Amino acid sequence: MAKRSTSPASKNPQDYVIATMGSHTALQILHGARQEGMRNIVVCKKGSERVYKSYGVADEIILVNDWSEWEETEKKLVERNAIIIPHGSFIAYMGHDRVRKMKAMYFGTKEILEWESDRSMERQWLEAADIKMPRVFATPEEITKPVIVKFHGAGGGFGYFIAKNSEQFYEVKNRKYPEQNDYALQEYIVGVPIYAHYFHSPLTQELEILSFDKRYESNADSIGRIRAEDQLAANIFTSYTIVGNIPVVVRESLLPEFFAMGERVVETSKKMCGGKGLFGSFCLECIVTRKLEIFVFEISARIVAGTNPFIMGSPYSWLKYQEPMSTGRRIAREIKLAIEAGRLQDVLG
Ligand code: ATP
Repeated sequence: MAKRSTSPASKNPQDYVIATMGSHTALQILHGARQEGMRNIVVCKKGSERVYKSYGVADEIILVNDWSEWEETEKKLVERNAIIIPHGSFIAYMGHDRVRKMKAMYFGTKEILEWESDRSMERQWLEAADIKMPRVFATPEEITKPVIVKFHGAGGGFGYFIAKNSEQFYEVKNRKYPEQNDYALQEYIVGVPIYAHYFHSPLTQELEILSFDKRYESNADSIGRIRAEDQLAANIFTSYTIVGNIPVVVRESLLPEFFAMGERVVETSKKMCGGKGLFGSFCLECIVTRKLEIFVFEISARIVAGTNPFIMGSPYSWLKYQEPMSTGRRIAREIKLAIEAGRLQDVLG
């Protein structure tokens, strides 16, 4: 297999490999690479390779004892001309600094990482894109309506809780999280959570909506199974630990707004966030109210786990492609087309 030159020049997709970390959305990324006729590599922490073996989706499995061994692994990936597809777990395990300094080819814009991980920069970006967001209260004393308390760096909604005033806030925080002082107080929007999965092609500049999901969260999604009286008796606090994802099809009349929101976010990123702006897969994490207002509480600037139910595509991707098109496959297709057109640099960060 060809070694990577400083400027990737080969127009043959067979000279490259799609690589990702064994977790999160790796199954569909590996499967999607195969569907597009590209080879793949999955890097797994020892003990987590079982899944990738069992489903037979990986051409090569690189095992590591710990993510601190990344430098060695990265060398191997560079030798194989690998293009890394980052996902949520990859960014979480690697950390932004390591990702920024990576020498291996990387699908996506690295500059975006800083914007999506810093709550105030994220807000600046989304507000500039005219996106409706929940109000934020600077201190617990300013809370005037129910808030969702989000600890920074809490993986998958772990530890989030609801408070309707500062007394309630301090009661829970001091009792359960006395050491944690890095949190955001976000207005709690009453509505249904909807996660919109987009793909923006840097090759054609087209924005696609590939699918939507909602999350299956413990225990927020189980509290309704017991009557209110029992909830009070059991002294249950709502939590949002993500366990899985459920496909959603939205009211068709909401689609124009979802498209417009995605387009504004992409356009604004080109002006504000540096680099090539936002491209590839991304997700707007929304709450839709009974008045059909769409609030965005977070953006994920990469493939999200909510795309996992759609390994064989969604109703939307079926309309667009008339063949099974997961987000993983859509990424591989963009890379393949970019390679063939001699435009690989356009999809690398
Ligand atoms: P990830 O980073 O994986 O997206 P997270 O840890 O940032 O997850 P969030 O997605 O921010 O967690 O939130 C967890 C859950 O909390 C959401 O699925 C949603 O149900 C609920 N939620 C978050 N923000 C709000 C809000 N402002 N109003 C109402 N519900 C909210």
